[in-house]
Amino acid sequence: MDCIFCKIAAGSIPAKKVRENDQLVAFFDIDPKAPTHILVIPKKHIASLGHAEPGDAPLLGRLLEAAADIAREQGLSQGYRVVMNTGPEGGQVVDHLHVHLLGGRQMHWPPG
Ligand code: 5GP
Ligand code: ZN
Repeated sequence: MDCIFCKIAAGSIPAKKVRENDQLVAFFDIDPKAPTHILVIPKKHIASLGHAEPGDAPLLGRLLEAAADIAREQGLSQGYRVVMNTGPEGGQVVDHLHVHLLGGRQMHWPPG
């Protein structure tokens, strides 16, 4: 499968990883939209949140748990934003489910 995030998870494309375990990988976004911008992805290929199955619920929980833990590690004590762009109108470009962890600046609402 020609999936860039599967390749990052497998290590065949380099990324600046901040965490890795048997289920997930977290790495710095190549085009950061905030002073801290990290992507947390499952090693398993799931195309989007809309493609997740009931059995994926524990894995989705792990992604959020990792995002919160990495935010602490990164010193985002003033807050941060966690985003899952889903589908074309959601702004998803890479079709491998990922959690954006954004921090280090004031976020605005509503998002664009
Ligand atoms: P999406 O728009 O799909 O929610 O977000 C995809 C994100 O992946 C974007 O923020 C983009 O900068 C990032 N990205 C795309 N290709 C690469 C890559 O090869 N390496 C890294 N580290 N990030 C990437
Ligand atoms: Zn993939």
